[in-house]
Amino acid sequence: MATFVKILIGSILAAYLAMKWTAPSFHPESLRGARVLVTGASTGIGEQMAYHYARFGAQIVITARREKVLQQVAEKCLSLGAQKALYIAADMANESDPDRVVDFALEKLGGLDYLVLNHIGPTTFGMWEGDVEHTRWLMKVNFLSYIQMAWRALPSLEQSKGSLVVVSSLLGKMPNPFTLPYSSTKFALNGFFGSLYHELAMKKSNVSISICTLGLIDTDSAMDKVRGVTNVPAYPATEAALNIIIAGATRQLDLYYPWFTQVITLIKDWSPSATNYFIQNSYNYNP
Ligand code: NDP
Repeated sequence: MATFVKILIGSILAAYLAMKWTAPSFHPESLRGARVLVTGASTGIGEQMAYHYARFGAQIVITARREKVLQQVAEKCLSLGAQKALYIAADMANESDPDRVVDFALEKLGGLDYLVLNHIGPTTFGMWEGDVEHTRWLMKVNFLSYIQMAWRALPSLEQSKGSLVVVSSLLGKMPNPFTLPYSSTKFALNGFFGSLYHELAMKKSNVSISICTLGLIDTDSAMDKVRGVTNVPAYPATEAALNIIIAGATRQLDLYYPWFTQVITLIKDWSPSATNYFIQNSYNYNP
């Protein structure tokens, strides 16, 4: 058994190092003047992505619901070096807003090189209490708006040999308690954009897709939910944001951040009982 575990760990490390070794290198100058639309950019990881793109000299459109906050983020982007920083307030639960936002970015930037889909609607953190209406609403915000925006932006991305970047979660690959509606939307994203990747490849499309699997990140909204409930370590939003940008710029299909989220997704299929035990015991819960 001990030998088997050693071989297993050795193989995982070797596969990880080989992957890192062969990964395409990132050239920050490739983002100078790039035309980027980032959703959910008023706060959290999306806000940090806007600042990184700004430092790289990109032309940015940001969106979320709160116009005043977007205005402040856009101003900071300009001060950091963005060639353009425009904002548009929109509610992704509203059926016409996803198209309206893409059309705004296409018009103001004259096309798109990157569509970064990142927003999420607020959701509860706790045992499932049968709130179907909330799940339906969250599906609109976290999933349906993503596919609507992707479809609207594809012709422009095709022309520019652009990239579609989808921010997902470890909870979209591994069921966990307390986040059922959220987790369902992330599973839906992985299924849809993983399948779209095949279709684009089969059509020899110019567009790359990057699906980003994140572990716990230290944004205010995430930390407010998990504080006192789990001791899982949280990783910095600014570093997560940079890794997402690099995944898109280097046209990687998969990003796992932090790195061990990939190991967790591998182990869960090899050892489901141990994984389930670990998941259930990583939360403080007393019925
Ligand atoms: P935040 O909750 O910090 O930010 C969410 C963003 O979405 C905000 O800009 C918010 O702005 C916007 N938003 C909320 N509701 C709507 C709506 N109805 N229409 C349009 N925009 C909306 O999220 P994080 O930064 O923590 O997460 C970013 C991404 O990373 C998400 O896709 C998330 O699933 C993923 N992720 C995060 C993890 C974490 O631990 N933080 C872990 C794994 C994945 P406003 O309120 O102004 O609308």
